[in-house]
Amino acid sequence: DHNLYTALRAAFPADLDDVAVETDTGLRYSWRDLDRGSAMLANLLASLELPEGTRIAVQADKCVESLMLYLAVLRAGHVYLPLNTAYQAAELEYFIGNAEPGVVVCTGKNFPWVSKLAFKQGVRYVFSLNDDRTGTLLERASHFGDQHTPVERGEDDLAAILYTSGTTGRSKGAMLTHGNMLSNARTLKDYWDWRPGDVLIHALPIFHVHGLFVAIHGALLNGSRMLWMGKFDAKQVIEWLPRATVFMGVPTLYVRLLAEPGLTREQCAHMRLFISGSAPLLIDTFNEFRRRTGHTILERYGMSETIMLTSNPCRPEDGERIGGTVGRPLPGVGVRVVDGKTGRELPAGEIGDIQVRGPNVFKGYWRMPEKTAEEFTADGWFKTGDVGHFDERGYLTIVGRSKDLIISGGYNVYPAEVEGYLNETEGVAESAVVGVPHPDFGEAVIAIVVPKPGAALDEAALIAGLKGRIANYKVPKRVFVVPELPRNAMGKVQKNLLRQERQGLFV
Ligand code: ATP
Ligand code: MG
Repeated sequence: DHNLYTALRAAFPADLDDVAVETDTGLRYSWRDLDRGSAMLANLLASLELPEGTRIAVQADKCVESLMLYLAVLRAGHVYLPLNTAYQAAELEYFIGNAEPGVVVCTGKNFPWVSKLAFKQGVRYVFSLNDDRTGTLLERASHFGDQHTPVERGEDDLAAILYTSGTTGRSKGAMLTHGNMLSNARTLKDYWDWRPGDVLIHALPIFHVHGLFVAIHGALLNGSRMLWMGKFDAKQVIEWLPRATVFMGVPTLYVRLLAEPGLTREQCAHMRLFISGSAPLLIDTFNEFRRRTGHTILERYGMSETIMLTSNPCRPEDGERIGGTVGRPLPGVGVRVVDGKTGRELPAGEIGDIQVRGPNVFKGYWRMPEKTAEEFTADGWFKTGDVGHFDERGYLTIVGRSKDLIISGGYNVYPAEVEGYLNETEGVAESAVVGVPHPDFGEAVIAIVVPKPGAALDEAALIAGLKGRIANYKVPKRVFVVPELPRNAMGKVQKNLLRQERQGLFV
């Protein structure tokens, strides 16, 4: 049996009355609670007699019961489909129409419109689940027994469909199997050196790979307690640090932690590991965090389609953590950099398309067979859509997404390179470099920059500062100073929006 729940359950500590999850609302859940609660929910799902492979779509506020629901879906052998809590009617209509779930679970306050929309699309069951342990899902489940034997699943059976963040276009449903998740979780348990006594601060949303799979599987597979936060709160994280050992965050969370004077070396003394991913970590943040806390953030790289791919080392004997890189391929994961046109593998130092393969790579995009076929090479490697290069030591650096690559006057411009120079400029907090249509050059490089608090930035001076340092074709033709960059729920800069806003600049 390859049911992921079976493997996670086997890692629960011997004493099931130990605390598994402690919440910022003051609740404590034991390992037995997780097991019993997910059994009751799995029994409820079983009573609905849903066909094999039924999708269970969930758009609920982050709470431990929604974690139990995830575990219940695994136990029952169905397919978990989490949805971003920010999605509104038009988005939900698309996702429900596309995924055709058999069951939809939503927060009570959205029930009127979600149920209407879902029933119209042929969904049979809609339940509500609130973050205060109320709602019809738990009411119904309370009538069921608290023992449940997980349904047997094969390695290749679907466990979840995860919609990508939609950073480059419409979200695609990545189909992940029980085998994908377990292989990756085991690899990370070892590579990140999870050990007895580890305690995780869980501060991320649970509708994405990072919060749902990397964080939750990591803690559960290690029998580790989680300190659980409904919504990220920097002060609460800092208060918890002395009781925790592992923290995972997207780069913006680190920026917000650094803004707190309470983040000190003493406060972090008990911590073992800070992990960052989902978007590029600025070198400034990496350095500043080390200076303030004495900890070197471990940056890693992954995506919905593949879970985790590369990581900076955890144990000193595996090497040092190098800022600005996403580390080396994880054990068992193949990563290569190729020339996009010829498919030829490139040596260290040369920039090209990042392709991957391994037991962690998904089965394909939900109901998009052509798109799936396009994104795999003839020899079975998945095209990540990211562009980067290896260095001599085998560390990978991501320079951008192929869709964000700018071709100006026939020359390739890698946004991350230009952003790096801009970010080094006095008074610049961060920047985004994009290409917009230009009558002569095809595309023109432009930059959008955010000043540091109190700094005044001047367009002409920023441009002058780059000239002479980098080739003219890389220097932005225009620089716009804005208070902040548009980001999605995972803290990723939405370059498509920046491009759209300034489409007509030169044409
Ligand atoms: P979509 O595929 O819908 O456009 P998305 O690619 O942002 O959205 P995800 O699967 O959530 O959706 O994100 C994966 C992407 O996040 C990767 O392809 C990569 O571009 C980016 N990413 C993840 N980790 C890092 C990192 N450490 N540094 C830079 N980029 C990262
Ligand atoms: Mg993507």
